[in-house]
Amino acid sequence: MTRRVAIVTGASRGIGRAIAERLAADGMDVAICGTREETIEPVAVELAAAYGVAVHAQAVDVSNAEQIQSFVKGVAKRFGRLDVLVNNAGITRDGLAMRMKAAEWRQVLDTNLDSVFFAAQAALRPMMKARFGRIISLSSVVASMGNPGQANYCASKGGVDALTRSLAREVGSRGITVNAVAPGFIRTDMTDQLDDDARATIDNQIPAGRMGKPEEIASVVAFLAGDDAGYVNGQILQVNGGLYM
Ligand code: NAP
Repeated sequence: MTRRVAIVTGASRGIGRAIAERLAADGMDVAICGTREETIEPVAVELAAAYGVAVHAQAVDVSNAEQIQSFVKGVAKRFGRLDVLVNNAGITRDGLAMRMKAAEWRQVLDTNLDSVFFAAQAALRPMMKARFGRIISLSSVVASMGNPGQANYCASKGGVDALTRSLAREVGSRGITVNAVAPGFIRTDMTDQLDDDARATIDNQIPAGRMGKPEEIASVVAFLAGDDAGYVNGQILQVNGGLYM
């Protein structure tokens, strides 16, 4: 039997890298992308050596509809199947709404939301044919809570939640599940910009008393990607140490 094939976008570092590593460890062939060849290729070399699976790496700008669609179609063709799509790539361009530039709004929506739609659209064809598929997108706790200075980011992740539910209804009868994972604060480059005071304030609001680790998101994604989650569909799984409940 051939191995299952998973795509993970934005896997050069942070949560995406942890997800790619976990799915490879679980025995899947993986295709990963990031914005730069120099930073995504070494991850592929490392994972292939560590887990003995096939790893394809490519520089892709997910905010470009043509690029993300041709990446997804190319992976399905190259491996002859596509079982799992993890829409992880994301950015922040924070600023108060009154001062937010149109480009900051557009860039975040294109990268965090439009990319999810176009990637899923391309992935659905092979998944429908196989009557099996798992689409998992990274949302955020702030889609439910809101966050000052992140109108663009919160809107993009709220869009991911609504898109997830809608797609789940469309394709649920075809053996395909569509879910999202909404992390709270996770230690990555995205949160490393916070100073010590801001980090202490955040830790105090989290019942777990600390930020999460990328691996703690990867394990939930791995569950959703596997056979045990076949009856979980259209859900936004909150993984935040109790910050929001
Ligand atoms: P990160 O450390 O900043 O890494 C972002 C990843 O996305 C990198 O691999 C980056 O590639 C890639 N990426 C960004 N723009 C891209 C584009 N246009 N095309 C292709 N790849 C692109 O972020 P993270 O903290 O791991 O976050 C991962 C996901 O979880 C995001 O969707 C984020 O919104 C979500 N999330 C994170 C947190 C948190 O606390 N960290 C909380 C809630 C939700 P390069 O290395 O090439 O730039």
